[in-house]
Amino acid sequence: MKRIVFATGNEGKLREIRMILADMGVQVLSMKEAGADIEIDETGTTFEENALIKARTVMEATGEVVMADDSGLEVDWLDKAPGIYSARFMGEDTSYVIKNQAILDKLEGVPAPDRTARFVCAIACVFPDGRILQTKETMEGIIADQACGSGGFGYDPIFWLPEKGCTSAELTAEEKNSISHRGKALRAMKALLEDTL
Ligand code: IMP
Repeated sequence: MKRIVFATGNEGKLREIRMILADMGVQVLSMKEAGADIEIDETGTTFEENALIKARTVMEATGEVVMADDSGLEVDWLDKAPGIYSARFMGEDTSYVIKNQAILDKLEGVPAPDRTARFVCAIACVFPDGRILQTKETMEGIIADQACGSGGFGYDPIFWLPEKGCTSAELTAEEKNSISHRGKALRAMKALLEDTL
């Protein structure tokens, strides 16, 4: 059976990738399971660079085929912040109730057409022979007037989806998966892998 290591410590991401690749006969290992329990500095300046840095670092440590993702929220009114710093915005340990309120405060009084935002997800897959596969997808929306919903995680409660009439924190996991930046980028990566493996 073919093996792919997913360079994350996030159990939720692992579950998602295992579900999406389930019918490919590929065994998806966590970094830990592959013997690479390492901290990786995200020194890139784009989502694509950071995904590639994570995948390459773990591939070099394990000699396995390694996949990694990098994701975040771009708010157009804030010049695309927090962007690649989404997890680190206001400090990694600050609660999302506080982070989300800070974004709502910064956008107070800004009219809906100027509140456009998107979640971005870049995925890289690096092979020991040097081949690289990359995908990147977005989920477009606007920053809501107030936080709403308790599903999802992170910035979901303030991310309004006009075509759904709710925030991404009010979707079921399956609904979010079918339209999300990460779901779309993973399915695009699956298609590339099917051609490559
Ligand atoms: P990563 O784990 O380095 O990719 O960091 C992603 C960060 O972006 C998360 O910690 C969240 O702050 C934010 N983010 C990415 N995807 C989502 C999402 O689907 N919902 C809410 N926040 C997200």
